[in-house]
Amino acid sequence: MKELLVVFSLWLASGLSAQESSKVFTHADTIRGSNTPQRSWWDVSFYDLHVKANPVDSSITGYNAITYRVLKPAREMQIDLQMPLVVDSIVQDGLELSARRDGNAFFVTLVAPQPARTLKTVTVYYHGEPVVATRPPWDGGFVWAKDSLARDWVVTANEGLGASVWWPNKDYLADEPDSQRVAITVPDSLLDVSNGRSRATIHNSDGTTTYEWFVSNPINNYDVAVNAGHYAHFSEDYQGEKGRLTLDYYPLDYHLDTARKQFQQVKPMLQCFESWFGPYPWYEDGYKLVETPHLGMEHQSAVAYGNHYKNGYLGRDRSATGHGLQWDFIIIHESAHEWWGNSITMKDQADMWIHESFATYAEGLFTECQQGKKAGQEYTVGQRKIIRNDTPIIARYGVNDEGSGDMYDKGANLLLTIRQLVDDDTRWRGILRGLNKTFWHQTVTTKQIEDYISRQSGMNLGKVFDQYLRTTRIPTLEYKLQGQKLSYRWTNVVSGFAMPVKVTTSSDRYGWIRPTERWKSTAVKLDRPEDFGVDDTFYVTARDILKPAADSTTARTVP
Ligand SMILES: [Zn+2]
Repeated sequence: MKELLVVFSLWLASGLSAQESSKVFTHADTIRGSNTPQRSWWDVSFYDLHVKANPVDSSITGYNAITYRVLKPAREMQIDLQMPLVVDSIVQDGLELSARRDGNAFFVTLVAPQPARTLKTVTVYYHGEPVVATRPPWDGGFVWAKDSLARDWVVTANEGLGASVWWPNKDYLADEPDSQRVAITVPDSLLDVSNGRSRATIHNSDGTTTYEWFVSNPINNYDVAVNAGHYAHFSEDYQGEKGRLTLDYYPLDYHLDTARKQFQQVKPMLQCFESWFGPYPWYEDGYKLVETPHLGMEHQSAVAYGNHYKNGYLGRDRSATGHGLQWDFIIIHESAHEWWGNSITMKDQADMWIHESFATYAEGLFTECQQGKKAGQEYTVGQRKIIRNDTPIIARYGVNDEGSGDMYDKGANLLLTIRQLVDDDTRWRGILRGLNKTFWHQTVTTKQIEDYISRQSGMNLGKVFDQYLRTTRIPTLEYKLQGQKLSYRWTNVVSGFAMPVKVTTSSDRYGWIRPTERWKSTAVKLDRPEDFGVDDTFYVTARDILKPAADSTTARTVP
């Protein structure tokens, strides 16, 4: 999610092409965002999470039993739990362990031997009042909301900030458990819907109920969620590429009828995305939509939904083409993350484009499924108006840094551009499906994604990725038409950029040219220079160098 995440607060006003210049990273960023020595020696196998949420005083209490595989013997272990939560004890093999706190991380001194290849468990007991999200899902934390009947509605949202804002874990994207239990205890009046499948509902003697959920697949820490409210429930089945998939819907009770209508968009979404990306990644865990007080989030197999049962993005079309008003943005965008983000997950926050560029491009693909190929292209092209080109899409590695919000709309346009370069829809579909097959349930780097697309397309796209992901510059095609001779070259590009592009080579058709940074020329059949144009599905700009540069004073109003 993280849509509209326009918190470039550190440099927004500065006008700097920010990059590294104004962001200062701290020791805390490094221990949060890198594979520290106290993390790298162990591999999470299972999280057994038990949390009791108390709306009366906004507190939680619980424990997480972390089972891990020892990769290499070690004595010190990093476990993340953010302030102001308090650790009560850390226990292994019946022994309480000592730990030193370093901000939001605990460094635990282990006593028992940790032989390589063995499975060990360490349990962290904790309590406190977790950070309250003031503007979820963007700022993140616990949300102690009320529904419109003033009843408690308790949820979590913590992408970016990290799951350690409410539960202790290895808060590092590159390590996911193979499976997880999520047991949430809430007052009897509430129903909790977390990730995976419901395994048990236990009515306790103190007026609370424990809802036990089980995720039988790897899951991103930030996708683990509490959703406790006065929910209604309805369900249906979907026959997909891997057989029967259960679809379960949890709207607030008073939205049941509205939800029955709006959520009819789920099946066409699954049909479209399975055809483009391959099987839905979590048949074992099912697909769920759960209403939340915030806009939405891609919580794995339990997508958070808060789009007020409207089409578009809260009723608006981000592409300004009208195509985006034909479907519900949150159902489409957040569900696309099941493939892009949840099944294929970035190893480092800096590579978040792998989640957002593909999920945003998926909006265009859904438009294509529903309204045709031209409409799909128009939708993605329409999103260019909200590209900022302020900072690069790829951020700084190892410090939990997030790149420009351009990872959404510019990233989608990069993918649309690459599709034009591939120029073969069957092959392009094969690339999108192949990425999902090759990196199924894995954490990846940008390089893996880039290399895969280059290899499968038969083109070296390294410079194209460099240009769009690592700079803020948009390639400019400089050209001049002299009679029937077209001369052209790329400027404003990274060195060695030589992306082919389609332009009008005769008055009624597009043809390929292969510009480089040096002038080239070719014969064309154009009656007038105005007949020249670049195929607008390529995200580039063009400049006729024989035409005087646009004069900024021409827009001046005459007094
Ligand atoms: Zn998203």
